[in-house]
Amino acid sequence: MTATSTATRVLVLNSGSSSLKYQLLDMCDGDTPGSDLPDSHAPGGDPQAGGRLAQGLVERIGERTSRLQHTPADGATRERGGPIADHDAALKAVAAELARDGLGLDSPELAAIGHRVVHGGRSFTEPTVIDGAVLAEIERLIPVAPLHNPANLTGIRTAMALRPDLPQVAVFDTAFHTTMPESAARYALDAETADRYRVRRYGFHGTSHAFVSRATAALLGKAPRDVNVIVLHLGNGASASAVRAGRCVDTSMGLTPLEGLVMGTRSGDLDPAVIFHLMRVGEMSADEIDNLLNKRSGLIGLCGDNDMREIRRRVDEGDEQARLAFDIYIHRLKKYIGAYYAVLGRVDAIAFTAGVGENAAPVRAAAVADLGELGIVVDAGLNEARARGPRLISPPSARVAVAVVPTDEELEIATQTYALVGKSGSEKN
Ligand code: ADP
Repeated sequence: MTATSTATRVLVLNSGSSSLKYQLLDMCDGDTPGSDLPDSHAPGGDPQAGGRLAQGLVERIGERTSRLQHTPADGATRERGGPIADHDAALKAVAAELARDGLGLDSPELAAIGHRVVHGGRSFTEPTVIDGAVLAEIERLIPVAPLHNPANLTGIRTAMALRPDLPQVAVFDTAFHTTMPESAARYALDAETADRYRVRRYGFHGTSHAFVSRATAALLGKAPRDVNVIVLHLGNGASASAVRAGRCVDTSMGLTPLEGLVMGTRSGDLDPAVIFHLMRVGEMSADEIDNLLNKRSGLIGLCGDNDMREIRRRVDEGDEQARLAFDIYIHRLKKYIGAYYAVLGRVDAIAFTAGVGENAAPVRAAAVADLGELGIVVDAGLNEARARGPRLISPPSARVAVAVVPTDEELEIATQTYALVGKSGSEKN
């Protein structure tokens, strides 16, 4: 089936092991179809205006207490409880909600389904129309993404069964980082061992880093190829990237999302010998340490809270434990800013994004405090002003622009999906 001028909608699916997040977007308002993707999204352009038709979430799939939350364009959220047995039932329930709004998945206006896929390894450097070979390759990558890729595959197979005639596109979290040079992507491990087990740095959050680096260039009134940007994606998971002329040259997450910044529940960087120490002295198993480092470390491990709002509230009340957690978080963040400044040589902008980056003014202020010698300065008034949309928080005279740039991974997935389907007049095979 070809994406015709009437088929302008893209359904974006993000399947977790027990959840299904979705958005239905209409791409006809943008300049996206067939356009040169990197420049196609103007920051500040609100996809809400005609673009975002519905969004929602199915949680606790497979349990008795499943819940579907559906929000159509008018913002009147509807909820449905009761058991939803599997992803197939979840997608059918979503389709039923969409049909109630006159947006059924059988509509000829649906051009494609775009799937978030966490790990594309080295195989997938771009969004890809899914066929049998692509499914097999995503499956082959399960050993490096045991939690995510199986869930993503389930979502894809379910959607393909529902609409076998429709182009389905995989958009990979790792793809934006495949431009990293080998010097950044490889660990200093025995080369044969690393190759045999595909141990290298892949990076994640790529869809967000791509979107935000491009939107930052647009905020500066420049083309992506003319700017070097440090993107700080600070959500519950957190990662930094160094983007030179629109291409990622380094990022803080590695083989898995555990490496790099201090996160809500993940430790980020640590001496790998900590693991042997905990095995030998603490008599912990690999699974226990995996759980410790991914689920019980980072901010929650340091102070018992992983929500930055709560941590800031405690800091303001004089809580020492929360203060130390905040300081460790900021220290690591600042180290990465310094490292990526050196990697890039020239930095035009630093962009803060995701839940913490977009909302926590104290985090932004602390992360760049005392970096005036590097040309990095934040205007306190601009930083603290409540605002939405991409904006500068550095004074106009600053050598490095510091910006808050809201991320929109669903729009990016829809944009990439629609561009691919529009460009190729894609046939599903
Ligand atoms: P993820 O997608 O990784 O779950 P988000 O990008 O949605 O994460 O970010 C979630 C985090 O953002 C929360 O854990 C919280 O710490 C932080 N956050 C959200 N709003 C605020 C706020 N107003 N001030 C400070 N932190 C905030």
